[in-house]
Amino acid sequence: MTVLLDHRYRAGEMHRFDASGADFVYLPAAGAMFAFDEAIVAVLTLVEQGTVVHSDLVKALTADGMSAVDAEGLLREMRMVRLLEAENIVAQPAIVDAPPADYPLQALVLNVTNQCNLACTYCYEFGADKISTQTGKPKYMTPETARTAVDFLLDSAKGRKAVHVTFFGGETLMNFRLLKDTVEYANARAAETGRRCTYSLTTNATLLTDPIIDFLNDNAVGVTVSIDGPKDMQDSRRIYKSGKGSYDVIEPRLKSLIARHKTRAVTARVTLTAGNTDVVGIYRHLKDVIGFHEIGFAPVTTTDDGHDFGLNGDGMSDVLQGFHDLSEEWLQYALRGQMHGFSNVSETLSELVSGTNKSHPCGAGLGLLGVSPGGDLAPCHRFTDADEHVMGHIDTGIDQEKRTDFLTRGHVGSKYECTSCWARPLCAGGCHHEAFVRYNDTGHANLHYCDWIRQWTDRVLSIYGTIAVRNPEFLDRFADRKGMSS
Ligand code: SF4
Ligand code: SF4
Repeated sequence: MTVLLDHRYRAGEMHRFDASGADFVYLPAAGAMFAFDEAIVAVLTLVEQGTVVHSDLVKALTADGMSAVDAEGLLREMRMVRLLEAENIVAQPAIVDAPPADYPLQALVLNVTNQCNLACTYCYEFGADKISTQTGKPKYMTPETARTAVDFLLDSAKGRKAVHVTFFGGETLMNFRLLKDTVEYANARAAETGRRCTYSLTTNATLLTDPIIDFLNDNAVGVTVSIDGPKDMQDSRRIYKSGKGSYDVIEPRLKSLIARHKTRAVTARVTLTAGNTDVVGIYRHLKDVIGFHEIGFAPVTTTDDGHDFGLNGDGMSDVLQGFHDLSEEWLQYALRGQMHGFSNVSETLSELVSGTNKSHPCGAGLGLLGVSPGGDLAPCHRFTDADEHVMGHIDTGIDQEKRTDFLTRGHVGSKYECTSCWARPLCAGGCHHEAFVRYNDTGHANLHYCDWIRQWTDRVLSIYGTIAVRNPEFLDRFADRKGMSS
């Protein structure tokens, strides 16, 4: 056994929190959470007051009744997980390695059309987030292009047993014919090679019909509906080009969707904007009145470009309060062994449970690519049809030079501020697309929402700790939930 008698220690990088009366720590270097016992708290209390010599720590522990062997073992373990850092070693932030450049694809997002039958006032197809350069580009993907994209995905997904196709728009169901053809083709092609293809789509629900719903059910297509909430909220921004609201059109269709689609959860995705921040009220309506299985919320962080939909400080406070209230309800359900539909908690918790430690914020450019209606490849669906971000074509494959450049700049280790942030295992700098819109650089850290990310991560850590103490079996449900963020 090596005894480092002359070493002086300082506290390593950690985020401490308490849950249900117990002390916990989250270790960014490992992306892992641990419960403290009294001995660890005693050591940390000493080193947090200033650097401490190894032998003094052993002395303190043995004075409390621990054997010298156990004290050495405890200090060794604390060094290994980097709760303790030797003072004479310059601490390097542990930054996870990037996957290899030829990382096999897992998923494609097909932008089946860039056209939409609604004109929502905040939509990135029309609003501040728009980066596409659509002039002269196809408006609808052809079935041939979609089939070639499926072939490309299966070829590029070497070694994978299952691949995933997401259908996205514009309004996806404006090209339902292609969707149907593509699912049938991909099922057959995947089966030829003993693999499986799974599907999802995002829709505004205005064009849903019972035959479409039955097709989605029969093929286990996961459905996410973009919706803002009850009628007054939905009709405030999710409107037709005539200015008419869309709530009355979608309500009966949603009820039919939820009644007939039994093979996958039906999810609502709510965009929170200025004036639309009643998180709890929206949740109640979508869960109890409409019947969605899961509801996720995406706040639009403040913009300073003249648009009126970004959330200001007061708006963000309202959203945080709503998130806090709903997450408390989520926790009470979990302690009774019941699932709650507030998916922002479920998704973050799944990442924590599976020990996520990201090199990149999401799968964009890595296991996932977007495909434009014309077949251009892009890091994800939000970059499609933007010339600057083209990353190859389904006919010619991935432009590996551009992919490597995108991934190198987007790696968490390239973002100075993130390297010392305890939330980096989950955040890794945040959405590349949002970074491009805010900072004109896909590899920039999204510094405008760090406070929000850290507060939210801290909240879910505390939920995690409370369940770990009071109903640990419940956490097993989250081990396999991890998915790609979008
Ligand atoms: S963007 Fe902000 S919250 Fe996210 S990892 Fe970087 S510093 Fe942390
Ligand atoms: S997080 Fe941003 S960059 Fe990543 S897939 Fe989603 S929209 Fe694209």
